Amino acid sequence: MTISSDSDPDVAYRPRAERDVLFPAPDVATCPDCLAETLNPQDRRFRYPFTNCANCGPRYTIIREMPYDRAATSMREFRICPECQAEVDDPARRRYRAQANGCSFCGPQIELIATPEMLDGLAGLMDDVARAAALIKRGYIVAIKGPGGFHLACDATNAETVARLRERKSRPDKPLAVMMATLDEINQHCPVSAQEAGLLQDPSAPIALLYRRPESKIAANVAPNNPMLGVMLPPTPLYHLLARDLNRPMVMTSANLTDLPVIVDNDLAQDKLAGIADAFVLHNLSIETRVDDSVWWIDHFAGPDDSARLPLRLSRGDAPRLIRLPWRAEKAILAVGADMNNTLCLMRDNDAVLSQHVGEASALETLDAFRATFERLSQLSAIVPQVIAHDLNPGYRTTRMARLLAEDPDHGLVGVQHHHAHIVACLAEHGHDASVIGIVLDGTGYGDDGAAWGGEVLVASLSSFERVAHLEYLPLTGGDATLHKPYRIAWGYLHAALGNIPDLKPLARFPADERRIVAQQIDRGQNTPMTSSCGRLFDAVAALIGVCPVTTHESQAAVAVEQAARRVDIEAANPYPFALTDDGIIRLGDTLSAIVKDMTGGRNPHLVAAAFHHTLAMMFVAAAKQARQRTGIKTVALSGGCFQNRVLLRLMRQALHDEGFEVLTHRQVPANDGGLSLGQAVVALRHAADFV
Ligand code: ZN
Ligand code: ZN
Ligand code: FE
Repeated sequence: MTISSDSDPDVAYRPRAERDVLFPAPDVATCPDCLAETLNPQDRRFRYPFTNCANCGPRYTIIREMPYDRAATSMREFRICPECQAEVDDPARRRYRAQANGCSFCGPQIELIATPEMLDGLAGLMDDVARAAALIKRGYIVAIKGPGGFHLACDATNAETVARLRERKSRPDKPLAVMMATLDEINQHCPVSAQEAGLLQDPSAPIALLYRRPESKIAANVAPNNPMLGVMLPPTPLYHLLARDLNRPMVMTSANLTDLPVIVDNDLAQDKLAGIADAFVLHNLSIETRVDDSVWWIDHFAGPDDSARLPLRLSRGDAPRLIRLPWRAEKAILAVGADMNNTLCLMRDNDAVLSQHVGEASALETLDAFRATFERLSQLSAIVPQVIAHDLNPGYRTTRMARLLAEDPDHGLVGVQHHHAHIVACLAEHGHDASVIGIVLDGTGYGDDGAAWGGEVLVASLSSFERVAHLEYLPLTGGDATLHKPYRIAWGYLHAALGNIPDLKPLARFPADERRIVAQQIDRGQNTPMTSSCGRLFDAVAALIGVCPVTTHESQAAVAVEQAARRVDIEAANPYPFALTDDGIIRLGDTLSAIVKDMTGGRNPHLVAAAFHHTLAMMFVAAAKQARQRTGIKTVALSGGCFQNRVLLRLMRQALHDEGFEVLTHRQVPANDGGLSLGQAVVALRHAADFV
């Protein structure tokens, strides 16, 4: 914990009651009434791409200042016609006080930009939306200005076009989302449970991750080697019309360059996307705040009392997200989140306001996006921070951003340990104010000792924590050189834990030189940062069982191991041995050598994956019992990106219940670093009293 200078306590803000009314709402997907009008040839809004009403339409993405009325939004550019004005003025009508009301006569318009050759033969079509759909059908990639930024769209059943999109975007295998017109259509490609249907039809119209039917005509390269598909229903009338005109699944992916914020501006899109998109659907409603698509999935193993919806990314329709806390922040707080899956959180009184997904703060552009998001959200919510919370990682750009923001004016700074913040985010969701045993399994977070933590058991309260157990430290030889090379992590782990690197078929094709270097570096202790990361352990296992020896994107290997486990009866797999020392070190040598033995003996790798999940659950339940014995605490909170793994979540929850623990899990904010800023803010709330 680092605490520095004090701040001026007299920052003016609006009184509570007033602010509650003024809080900016998230965008709402097109309501059934507006959709019916848009599709009705008799209606004056027939095929109008911006149809909306008081119940639906853009909110957060178009607002410039509070209070929310037309003059404060980008709709101010459009002079409302008498007919639309009459709707807005009539308390009996659905558009009473609808600030974004408009029609094809007075409201925003779209414009299709394409070459005459591309448009050949399409002049007779009804409008530009129909022509854009025809271009997609012809195999073109079309950039579309969506509700919160540009998307890239193409025919999801055309593998050749999808391959071209991947090549142009330099995105070899990260899954692409798919949009379809109706639930029935989605159901033809992915079985949709009642809970999943509810999720897809939520007013936020998120991407839901669903299993793909083997017979689906969606091209395999939309989500290579992945049994799941990210699917959404159209969020706006423009998208509804496109999806219906195209009448087949459409790839719908954020139009950004790798890891950079999604593009919102017409000119910038035409410039930056010139090499990717063949055509553009532009419009003249300016996007004030950038939002990506939200991503959720259903926890098929959730208990009957528990919401089955798990957020993976909160953005369009889900942000800003207001979380009421039973604790009062005496000072206004900004928490800057982490560098991956960045979000920020503002807090005052009993309200926490979580921002949309900002992105990967490894890029400078994302820092600009962060700053813009902070300034807009601070202005809209009238929360002017006096205390700034950040991760302890000195290398994080967000940490530097926090220091920068704290200089002007004089703010308090609170450094919060990564995994402590994870657990407190979970406690905040549940309003839980007693100490818990926190199990945090994630990729990486900066530890108190400077090592990369990520397989942690903490005894934690809102204000402090003690690390009581963790996965043993193992070497990441070459540091960043291992980033996309699970096979290399596996070699390093084997050499460190077993003293040698046994020959394994799945790893035979990788260079022997590299294998020697890994062993040498470990023996000499050169360039081998140590980690207790659970994510890296998943990487190693993914390589050992041959399901994902090389990756191109985050959590790819962990997903592959989960999917492998799901192919067999998970209950049938017995856990591997492991050792838990008296001082809380979980030793992995026995586990790794058992996995090696199974793989050498020709055991089904899917069974090995299932057994590994069981083993992880057993390890951490054992550590939780050890902590309970010492402290008497009977409640366990689960957080960290690895708990997006539903097999692990289920096994861990079940095993903890069986041992008599109460278990708290995430339901409102992501278990990954997207939820981190909420936890940081609450820790800072507990320490704000130190700034008197
Ligand atoms: Zn509506
Ligand atoms: Zn009008
Ligand atoms: Fe994390």
